[in-house]
Amino acid sequence: MTISVAVLGSSGSIGTQTLDIVRSEPDRYRVAALGVARSVDTVIAQAEEFHPDVVAVADEAQAAAIGDRLPAGTELLVGDRAMAEAATSADVIINGVVGFAGLSVTLAALEADKRLGLANKESLIAAGPVVQRVWKASAGDLIPVDSEHCAVHQCLRANEVTDKVTPVDRVHEIVLTASGGPFRGRSRGDLEAVTIENALAHPTWSMGPKITIDSSTLMNKGLEVIEAHELFGVSYDQINVVVHPQSVIHSMVSYTDGATIAQLSMPDMRLCIGYALAFPDRLEVPYGAIDWSEMSRLDFQRPDLEAFPCLRLAYEAGRAGETAPAWLSAANEVAVEEFLKGRIRWVDISDVLEEALQRWPGTTATDVDVVLDTDSAARRMAANLIDKRVHA
Ligand code: MG
Repeated sequence: MTISVAVLGSSGSIGTQTLDIVRSEPDRYRVAALGVARSVDTVIAQAEEFHPDVVAVADEAQAAAIGDRLPAGTELLVGDRAMAEAATSADVIINGVVGFAGLSVTLAALEADKRLGLANKESLIAAGPVVQRVWKASAGDLIPVDSEHCAVHQCLRANEVTDKVTPVDRVHEIVLTASGGPFRGRSRGDLEAVTIENALAHPTWSMGPKITIDSSTLMNKGLEVIEAHELFGVSYDQINVVVHPQSVIHSMVSYTDGATIAQLSMPDMRLCIGYALAFPDRLEVPYGAIDWSEMSRLDFQRPDLEAFPCLRLAYEAGRAGETAPAWLSAANEVAVEEFLKGRIRWVDISDVLEEALQRWPGTTATDVDVVLDTDSAARRMAANLIDKRVHA
């Protein structure tokens, strides 16, 4: 029996890689829905190839641009709720939507008791407590698509769950690996002179500019710590980060009996997406398989929290909980944008965030509106802090 898949954010990197997998196992997967924020021509081409039941777009302007160019039998859904509606039509939903638009997809998929492959950052970092409430009441599965969390999800399956033992009772620690970014091994002093070009040169993964800067500051890893806490329900004391330059071990779980289980592969997001598509089974096509005759060494280092304070700040926001992660993440987006515009230095990013986090108003994350308000307030706050700095 074929498994129907909704690919939301289908023109982005997660979306196009999901379609690659469907292409390689066409007897097993069928695209039921596609959704895009803007890329009309891409989604038309995808619809011609995959013949989905529905295509979802955000507004009438995109609907007009599509016109009658969808293949016969493909329905067009339009509006704020279109992606969420499209999500509920499939067995598995891959949520690769960028930004807060992805939150409604996450909530709709869980409310409909579906399997959700989650690659939308806002769902767990900004709206963790809101998603948590819906997830608890859901019979659906939430499978993380990020490489680290996908690894942890796999490692946790090494522990048999019984009536008496929950998946995390026997976990000693979760170890998230970090490549360390382009500035691994540099001191705070060295980093004063970092340029935009230096920060955009990531050693192992090629990604968009925002996430590449986040991995240079280790904020990306910090946000992943918060996601790990939300996904697996372990305390922040039990989540540790280790720098592993080869990016072959994607993360590990150490158990109370001393055993560590790790997941290893060459960097390839399709392994993670395929894991979410096939769960609890596995894909038959390999992605990122290791040639062990070529593998010679794996190195590990402790992260330098003095040179990379963003990692510490993320732990602080995570421990504060509620809207603090939303606040920090929104302030970080502003700081990174301003760095990319050349208005602040790389080392200023963490200084701005340190000040911003001190000003977090302590709001409880009661619902989506509160989370959205927190996001805008944090952006204004960070913009003000940066203006003061620039004009000082
Ligand atoms: Mg990652």
